[in-house]
Amino acid sequence: MINLYELTQDALTELLVSWGEPKFRAGQVWDWLYNRQVASFAEMTNLPKTLRTRLEAETRLGVLETAAEQSSRDGTVKRLYRLPDGQLIESVLMLYDDDRRTACISTQAGCAMGCVFCATGQMGFARNLTVAEIFEQALQYARLLTAEGDRLSNVVLMGMGEPFHNYDASLEAIRRLMSELGIGARHITVSTVGLVPQIRRFADEGLQVKLAISLHAATDGERGALLPVNKRWSVAELLDACRYYVEKSGRRITFEWALIHKENDTPQQAHALGALLKGLMCHVNLIPLNPTAAYAHGPSAGERIEAFVAVLAEYGVSATVRVRRGIDIDAGCGQLKASVLHPGAGE
Ligand code: SAH
Ligand code: SF4
Repeated sequence: MINLYELTQDALTELLVSWGEPKFRAGQVWDWLYNRQVASFAEMTNLPKTLRTRLEAETRLGVLETAAEQSSRDGTVKRLYRLPDGQLIESVLMLYDDDRRTACISTQAGCAMGCVFCATGQMGFARNLTVAEIFEQALQYARLLTAEGDRLSNVVLMGMGEPFHNYDASLEAIRRLMSELGIGARHITVSTVGLVPQIRRFADEGLQVKLAISLHAATDGERGALLPVNKRWSVAELLDACRYYVEKSGRRITFEWALIHKENDTPQQAHALGALLKGLMCHVNLIPLNPTAAYAHGPSAGERIEAFVAVLAEYGVSATVRVRRGIDIDAGCGQLKASVLHPGAGE
């Protein structure tokens, strides 16, 4: 079956013309797919019944099959999708008070980077997602919101997988989010564990898309113990690439830091981080660790977080503690899949 979301507009036109349809039908179908984001062929009311029937028989509106869904009291929706080959991936929709509607989407099934505290990293790598599989996760939430008279406003590539380890598909999916869903570049964020050549390549794309770097530690010893990727590219090499990005794009860069109790929330790490980032146009997002099954550590206590932020302020480095969304569901990266596969494990 043809997945319509895998076709370009030209390819869709070609398909419909080969069925003996006039060219303008492709424009109508395209409008249903991307502007109105319908969930069924029956809703494509301006198409002749015969065409709808044939579309129904020979094509499909995407490939993501919902395997589990959780909704949180704060409005967060988390979905586990089954892909045609049985792989499971997650995406999350977060609603913010300032009207932002943010989809957090996956770029790979599993992840090869092996960060020790990450549920996805603990699963290992299965495969890259295709452009259509990445794009469709955002589309699903856009569809949900459009049906409620609302609109998806932001997308973050912070779900399962390392976007820069699946660089081409991630970038193409980003381009489609901009062109087909009308999401502005400044409302899209890609997060990387720190693949240095790809950070430079991304800087050279000349896009206004935001970049976040998962730093989590400011010294090689500490970072290498948490993020194996640090053995390939050191903190110094990573920061060089970050400075290159800031110079090229003129944009601020974000650093992600999961606060792990008595691990990377020490005054020493705070001072090392302050010294490292001093003078760079950046912001630090502090995220209290989400505990996972295979990592025996917890989130930092409140007073340690405050002390950490205060040290950064001494260096003129701005930092905020990120509000955790979906606190009552398995909203951490890879955690819904982990809880479906191993009920009762973990938290
Ligand atoms: N692979 C990319 C994007 C996906 S992970 C990356 O690593 O940047 C999105 C963010 O969640 C990353 O900053 C990651 O380090 C963080 N993260 C993963 N597991 C976490 C956990 N258990 N608690 C808090 N943050 C976590
Ligand atoms: Fe992969 Fe990111 Fe998890 Fe590291 S934190 S294992 S890079 S998904």
